[in-house]
Amino acid sequence: MAGFGNKYKGTNPNHNRQGLGRLRRAHATDGNRIGGWERIADDDEKTDKHAQVQKRSHAGEHLLAKFNRLAGVLGASAALGEPAEICGFQGKEVMVRLADGASKGEELLCTVRQVLKKQVKGVKNPLCVGDRVHVERLPDPVISAISPRRNQLARADSHNRSLIHVFAANIDRLVIVSALREPDIKYGLIDRYLLIAALNDIPAALVLNKADLADPAPAVELYRALGIPVFATDCITGGGDLPAVKELLHGRTCVVAGQSGVGKSSLVNALHPQFRVRTGTVAEEGFGRHTTTSSRSYALPDGGRLIDTPGIRECTITGLEAMDIALLFADLASFQPMCHFTDCTHLHEPDCAVRSAVESGAIAPSRYDSYCSIVDEDLTA
Ligand code: GDP
Ligand code: ZN
Repeated sequence: MAGFGNKYKGTNPNHNRQGLGRLRRAHATDGNRIGGWERIADDDEKTDKHAQVQKRSHAGEHLLAKFNRLAGVLGASAALGEPAEICGFQGKEVMVRLADGASKGEELLCTVRQVLKKQVKGVKNPLCVGDRVHVERLPDPVISAISPRRNQLARADSHNRSLIHVFAANIDRLVIVSALREPDIKYGLIDRYLLIAALNDIPAALVLNKADLADPAPAVELYRALGIPVFATDCITGGGDLPAVKELLHGRTCVVAGQSGVGKSSLVNALHPQFRVRTGTVAEEGFGRHTTTSSRSYALPDGGRLIDTPGIRECTITGLEAMDIALLFADLASFQPMCHFTDCTHLHEPDCAVRSAVESGAIAPSRYDSYCSIVDEDLTA
């Protein structure tokens, strides 16, 4: 993520995207808005705003609905073949894992029946890892039907922002892995992944690895206070919360996200030694050892799935305004009703309760920095 560490440069008026003039005009037209403080009890309005953000922020939501309609039409005519799920891509071919029968677990390379390649407009990839499909084997394996998706992890494509790139579908959880040291914990990246999870309505969890190298307590406290399940692990000795992580993942389909070197492969090995993922710096096929940016799903012995989505690292946030993002940062959002302006972006406006909370320590500076860098780097790019 290029330039990720850049901090938002505070009060530079050139960064004033909302425009104070506009805010003031809005303020002037609303006679009820005298000051910020009476808004404290104004929960209804906040709930309304949340609902709006939910609606607007799901850029991919109507595309998911479209995909599902298409799947319904195309799937209905072809219940033939064996049920399978997409686990990867190789060139133009699709790798599927058979879901049932004597060949359960077997992986096959397939082509896709022409009619299923019909693009959903605005979507880069019509099929993705995690999609449930039907496969006909003769004469060569071909995907003959697709099923509706329960959910999907999607964002704007990094090369063409008008396209949605779907990383994976039918996911139970986004598991963010960060090292506490070597490499140092990147709060900005953690917060960016949390935002992506929130935007896609997928529950998140945070694994803080290399707990043998630094005290996990501050980060554990910060994210637990935000309601996120947090685990501190040491994958070398197998210490810490590894059993709890195993329980969380048990039988579920989880996308694992994190920088390279944080210990994703070591974590998979510590949880499932029979899986034997290669760790270290040598690039090889396997979990965390991708040569392409396409996602890959790995079946675990307990029936769960781990999905490696290298492309998610370059994921940018588009189609949102600063205020939408602030409302998806739960800690910032809780101070929003006390800001003087109802559409405060918390960047430069006077009487901003969010910035006061950062100054008093009620909001962690790292969270505010993450918010500012997402607004600065993604929304203006
Ligand atoms: P990945 O790129 O995220 O898959 O990271 P790896 O699993 O390959 O781990 C990168 C390096 O960190 C390897 O040298 C591991 O041995 C080391 N490592 C992994 N987990 C831990 C841990 O809990 N503590 C320490 N000290 N080192 C770890
Ligand atoms: Zn504010």
